[in-house]
Amino acid sequence: MLMTTKTEKKKTTPEQIGLAQAALERAHQLIRSAQRPLLICHISPDGDAIGSMVGLGRALRQRGLSPILACSDPISPAFSYIPGIEGIVGKIEDADSFDLVITLDSSDMERLGHFPNVPGFRDVPLLNIDHHATNLDFGDANLVDRAASSTAEIVLQLLETMAAPLDADIATALLTGIVGDTRGFRTNNVTPQVLEAALRLMKAGASLPNVARHTLDTRPTAAIRLWGEALARLQCQGRVIWTSIPLAARRAVGYTGDGDASLVSFLISAEDADAAAVFTEREGDRIEVGLRARPGFDVAQVALQLGGGGHALAAGCTLPGPLEEAQTRLLAVLKASLAEQRTKREM
Ligand code: 5GP
Ligand code: MN
Repeated sequence: MLMTTKTEKKKTTPEQIGLAQAALERAHQLIRSAQRPLLICHISPDGDAIGSMVGLGRALRQRGLSPILACSDPISPAFSYIPGIEGIVGKIEDADSFDLVITLDSSDMERLGHFPNVPGFRDVPLLNIDHHATNLDFGDANLVDRAASSTAEIVLQLLETMAAPLDADIATALLTGIVGDTRGFRTNNVTPQVLEAALRLMKAGASLPNVARHTLDTRPTAAIRLWGEALARLQCQGRVIWTSIPLAARRAVGYTGDGDASLVSFLISAEDADAAAVFTEREGDRIEVGLRARPGFDVAQVALQLGGGGHALAAGCTLPGPLEEAQTRLLAVLKASLAEQRTKREM
């Protein structure tokens, strides 16, 4: 949205450029007048949440700011190859000492965990940086590009607007976000601009093979055993493929990581499915639901109806248990939505 070469200008309407540039400049202005920003990424953080936050945090520190990086949930050791993740805090007492809050990769305030409830939080200006289709524009300023591959790609554009130099550590963090959210440049929002962004990060010192190996091709062995448990319960009916992971199964295989260990992204590869769902039972009678759609379908609206969010092709929500009930409830909404989407397409 930022590049201003002649050929790209031709392809983009002036309104789109105007909007994006105004948002970038507003974000830049907020950052210029801040000294101690609080950066927060979403709960159950993925590579884009962590990478965009750590990359931005390091760039701000290099400009003489004193950012604090925060996440309400623990950070998986799988991300320890990203320099700077060790500095992320899980809690703050109050927000009084901060002059700006920057949220990353979060479509709504609930995704920030406990931070919005700390004293003083609502008195600090909030800059919302995100790419989710379902983003609620909850910031005082919203740098939201729903067509962007990742929040990391938006952060890169912001840093370039600020003329902030990139180093290998910033580039590694940001490339993690792009590679993770595009599953290695394979999602349908990958454009030449995304590849160009990755190219600039590689030129700044990021290693694509290294990032891809850590982000996509390394997982705990227990995650593979978890897939085994889940695949044994697989169901496919009416062009929906789904399975569930009871708490007992997670415990039996000793899996301690987040969610479904990306199983739902694998399930949508089924030829017979337009949508995939994985229901993961968690402590506290919560059922985490991961949703995926075949291109041409949209599961974000299903997630949104049930209090969650995401993108057309990858979304999620958390439902109250028990597992069976959550499954029945979600599948009914999903099947109705897919039927409606098919009817609309035929019209
Ligand atoms: P995943 O299945 O990879 O955890 O999530 C897919 C997408 O849906 C991600 O973009 C993620 O941010 C979003 N998502 C997953 N769960 C929730 C949720 O409970 N609430 C919201 N707002 N978004 C979610
Ligand atoms: Mn993201």
